Amino acid sequence: MKKLFSAILDYIFPRRCCVCRQCLFSSNYRYLCDQCFGKIIFPSHNLCQKCGYDFGEASSRGPKLCPRCLEKKFYFQSLRSAVRLNGISRQLILRFKYRNGEHLAPDLCKIIQQNTDFMDFIADSVLVPVPLHWRRQFFREYNQSELLAKTLEKFPIPIQVLPLLKRIRYTRPQVELHASERHDNMRHAFRMNAKIKIPLDTKLVVFDDVLTTGSTINECCKVLQKYGFSNINAATFAQTTKD
Ligand SMILES: [Zn+2]
Ligand SMILES: [Zn+2]
Repeated sequence: MKKLFSAILDYIFPRRCCVCRQCLFSSNYRYLCDQCFGKIIFPSHNLCQKCGYDFGEASSRGPKLCPRCLEKKFYFQSLRSAVRLNGISRQLILRFKYRNGEHLAPDLCKIIQQNTDFMDFIADSVLVPVPLHWRRQFFREYNQSELLAKTLEKFPIPIQVLPLLKRIRYTRPQVELHASERHDNMRHAFRMNAKIKIPLDTKLVVFDDVLTTGSTINECCKVLQKYGFSNINAATFAQTTKD
C-alpha cells in the first residue's frame, strides 16, 4: 500500500536526478539517473599502497608511493576511497553537503557499496567521522561525514560508528586555502572525546567525504595515534587524482 502510494506520488511529482535534473521514473537510485551514475568512476586496481591514489590501469605497476605520500608523513596505515573525484562525484558531494542534501545519503551509500574492495577495506572497523565544529554544524544542520557513516552503518556490513574525536577549534574552510596553508590551518583542531573508551588495538577508519591534500584526516589520525591507538586507517567517499 505504502509502495503504491509512493508510486502515485512519484507520478504526480516526479523525482528528479540531483545532478542533471531529468525526471526519474525508473532508476536504480532515488535521486540519481542511470546516465549520471554511469559517469561515476571507481578506482582502478593500480593504487598507491598508502593513500589509495589512483595511478590508473594504464600506468606501470609496482610497489610505489604517490606524489602525495612522498611529500607528507601520514599517520594512517592506509586510506581508500570509494570513487574518484570527477565532475559527477563532485556535484553529488556539493549537493549533499551544502543544499539540504540529507536525502542523498542513502544513494551515496549505495554507490559506495558498488566498490567491493572498499567495502572489504572498511569491514570490521569502527568508523570515526571527521567532526565539524559546532558552529559550522549549527548552520549546516548536519555533519556530512557523520551522516554518511551512520547511513552506511544501517547497511548490512560489520561496522560501528563512534564519535571518537571532537573539533575544538573553528577553522577556515580548507577549500579557501592553498595546499601549503592547509596543514597549519588544521593544527590542534581536534581532540579525543573522553566519554568513549574502546580497546587501543581496535581497527579504526577515520571517515570523510573528500580527500585532497589529506591534511584534515591526517590531523585526526595524529590525535588518535598520540592517544595510543595502533590500527589507524582512513577512508573517504571520493579522492582527487591527477586528471
Ligand atoms: Zn542525471
Ligand atoms: Zn599515496
